[in-house]
Amino acid sequence: MNFVRNLFADTAQEEERTLTSSNDDEITDGALDTLECVVRTMGSESFPLEDEADSSDFAGQCDEFARHIENGAAVPSADISQSSDGAREWGQVRRFFIDRRQNEKEFVTSRVQNYRTCVEDLVSGLRDIGQRDLDTEQSVKQSLDVIDRAVGKGALPEIRVALQKSIESVGKTFTEQKRSYENQIRALNDRMSNLRNDLVVVREEMKRDTLTEVFNRGAFDAAITRSVNSYFILKQPITLVMLDIDNFKLINDKWGHSSGDDVLRSVGECLERSFIRKSDIVARYGGDEFAIILNDTTAAQSRSLIERFFDQMKSVPVPYADKCTTVTCSAGYTEIADADSVESLVVRADKALYQAKAAGRDCAEYLPAIAK
Ligand code: GH3
Ligand code: MG
Repeated sequence: MNFVRNLFADTAQEEERTLTSSNDDEITDGALDTLECVVRTMGSESFPLEDEADSSDFAGQCDEFARHIENGAAVPSADISQSSDGAREWGQVRRFFIDRRQNEKEFVTSRVQNYRTCVEDLVSGLRDIGQRDLDTEQSVKQSLDVIDRAVGKGALPEIRVALQKSIESVGKTFTEQKRSYENQIRALNDRMSNLRNDLVVVREEMKRDTLTEVFNRGAFDAAITRSVNSYFILKQPITLVMLDIDNFKLINDKWGHSSGDDVLRSVGECLERSFIRKSDIVARYGGDEFAIILNDTTAAQSRSLIERFFDQMKSVPVPYADKCTTVTCSAGYTEIADADSVESLVVRADKALYQAKAAGRDCAEYLPAIAK
């Protein structure tokens, strides 16, 4: 009977009343029935703990213990065998339920703690976002203070109400903030498209090479610097092509310097016809070498433009020579990467040109930036 009193301490007074009004057998039967019912209910209304797949195992154990309390039946799950005289293993019954209750308490306490930590993390995360924008911070802070206070009290219903209210007010604040960001992005886009136009407009003022009438070296240097600078803002691809006439010395030697000049002019015209966009910059880099800046163009896109130029060159004759004599060119090209400067870009394109010459001329070689 002590065991029953200990288990149901809060019903002790009721039991006292029963004690005075019933005989011992009735009390014992009633207490055993009640205990059996409590144990079965514990099993059927339990919830699975963290390491349990479901609660049916525990419910089954409770049924076994309930039968054991009723008539001393075996409890296989706790290694209790059927007693011959109906004696119960009260110590083991107590141990089993005390352990279970302690595990449940630990489980629930840690779950509530996790839940609080989640809310606290959410609050501090939102606080960080709020601090990024001073206008937003004040109203977000007020909402978060309400949640903070509710979390401090630890009452879950209050936390829920505070969260609902705050979601509404924080949502409104963020909608306003989003509108302001969108305006900023629109203004930035306008500025960027102006910058893009600048790259085109400025070409009207750029100096031209007197022989070929493509842009001269000074104009190229200024244009490549502008393009590389704009890459770091616009992040649009830029391809640089370095191109050199094959065996040009032979043309000069065989057909004369003025024939060589005509070839240089023809190559310039052919380049202008092949790279036709306003943002394409064709320049004479020096001697028989040309440089082409292809703004907003990837290396893959540039490849087909270079091939188009090579095709057109096949129909450009060398003046004074036999009419079947045509001139060929070699090209090296590369696309800008984040780590590039003007110099590294030019050096890489030049290296690619050298590779094209080494590969037998009349071809284009691509050299990618080395990934960092
Ligand atoms: P490669 O295929 O290796 O390029 O051989 P290449 O003979 O073309 O050699 P290179 O490019 O070094 O030769 C450039 C020549 O171009 C040397 C120079 O005499 C000639 N040259 C430079 N400027 C002019 C110019 O304005 N007019 C003429 N006609 N020739 C020029
Ligand atoms: Mg050459």
